[in-house]
Amino acid sequence: METFHGKSVLQGIAIGSLYVMEKKESTWTKHTIENAEDEVARFQKAREKAISELDELYEEALDQVGEENAMIFDVHKMMLEDMDYLEAIENLIRTEKVNAEYAVTVTGEEFSAMFSAMEDDYMRARATDVLDISGRVVRVLEGREEPGLHSKEPVIILADDLTPSETIAMDKTKILAFVTKHGSANSHTAILARSLNIPSLVNADVEITKEYHGMEAIVDGVTGTLFISPDAQTLETKRKEQAEIREKNEKLKLLIGQENITKDGRRINLYANMGNVEDVEKVLTNDAGGIGLFRSEFLYLGRDTFPSEEEQFEAYKEVASRMGGKKVIIRTLDIGADKKADYFGLDPEENPALGYRAIRICLTRKEVFRTQLRAIYRASAFGTISIMFPMIISVEEIRRIKDFVEEIKAELKAEGTAFGDVELGIMIETPAAALVSGELAKEVQFFSIGTNDLTQYTLAIDRQNQKLEEFYDSHHPAVLKLIEMTIQSGHKEGIWVGICGELAADDTLTETFLDMGLDELSVSPTYILRLRDRIRNIG
Ligand code: PEP
Ligand code: MG
Repeated sequence: METFHGKSVLQGIAIGSLYVMEKKESTWTKHTIENAEDEVARFQKAREKAISELDELYEEALDQVGEENAMIFDVHKMMLEDMDYLEAIENLIRTEKVNAEYAVTVTGEEFSAMFSAMEDDYMRARATDVLDISGRVVRVLEGREEPGLHSKEPVIILADDLTPSETIAMDKTKILAFVTKHGSANSHTAILARSLNIPSLVNADVEITKEYHGMEAIVDGVTGTLFISPDAQTLETKRKEQAEIREKNEKLKLLIGQENITKDGRRINLYANMGNVEDVEKVLTNDAGGIGLFRSEFLYLGRDTFPSEEEQFEAYKEVASRMGGKKVIIRTLDIGADKKADYFGLDPEENPALGYRAIRICLTRKEVFRTQLRAIYRASAFGTISIMFPMIISVEEIRRIKDFVEEIKAELKAEGTAFGDVELGIMIETPAAALVSGELAKEVQFFSIGTNDLTQYTLAIDRQNQKLEEFYDSHHPAVLKLIEMTIQSGHKEGIWVGICGELAADDTLTETFLDMGLDELSVSPTYILRLRDRIRNIG
């Protein structure tokens, strides 16, 4: 048995097989080869492996997304059997005596250019596919694994680090736990793990090596421990503890349908944070009063193109309808910093957390903002939707947003498209916003305090930096003062104030927040009933 330690993101115990995700960068360069026939044989072997990968992907997709969507892998397989493509690669290896990686890449690019120039829409669409299959063969030639999670059984993922995009792209039903060597407890990957109710460790002192792949392991989120090949006694103890945690959670279910009220009669709303449409299920089963933070940017992650207005409309509509009239607060796109999508074409930055992100992108790339706002407003006809805007620092920004919102509403009205009454609010997650919250409160209908970023910016500590975790103190008096100031400013103008950062789930502060007069706490669905229990025992 080997024992490792990390920082726990969620209390809970997972037992299962390890799935090691190694990320290796491509390193090949063009070079001449000695024996062309050997190189052709090497290419053929890689091609066969690529075909068997595609067969597996086809089966996986068939199960998960149906035949129509799985077809793409069949098309890719056919392309890898196309004689013109294969001959072009082999000819290049034989005539120029170049390595297979180079021959495949160049041929892929040539075929892609040829497809792009075609009249027929279907053929033009093959331009990216041929690049895709060529990339697959090159990866196999280099001996690199396919990125992502490809397992039939639920597993414990062991990785160097995971970005939110990578996490979003995985099939969540196949994840028992995450353990990463890097990463901080305040990152969005950690937040995702919490919202999925998956025990996870970050910053773990374990080496990420293929040797661990398939081995049995235990992730103990209570003590922050990873056991690899646990002995029989540890397994037995942890199984018992796991059962106890499950029993405790079952007991909490008795609180479903009960009020969030203290013994001395103080009430507070308990809402849920979510990022994916599928999360609504957990929001409902945990009896949240509404959705206090729908991180809409997750709809933009783990994909290659912008989600269309229609796609977003369908997502927001489904959430609003399923919530059956309960409030759904959609936070507009907060992309940037650790939440990246290549197709945005964002330049690398020296200080991404202080950079071009969130509302700054929306206010300067109006086409992106327009698509999202139209989708949200259209969906508002199907439930109770509010919108909140992230990373606000000034009254001027809110006025610009409101002008644009009016434009969108006028556009929809002129088209005869229905939309509902939508409350507008902002996140208070910069010290600037907290300090001018008195003025901001006159402009909007609610405030939601984002303590993750508010802590980062108030203390000047990068929330992503694992080395700084001991200094990242959300209980710092400066943070608590800004929270209190925001609540007072909001109430003075008669608007409600909530917290949707991770601090909302910290039950050592629940009483303090109640004393401050806070109106709402928005937390991962997992924490709703625990907090209800806490609240009902106060006073
Ligand atoms: C926050 O900053 O507290 C917040 C809720 O937003 P995010 O964690 O998505 O940045
Ligand atoms: Mg934030």
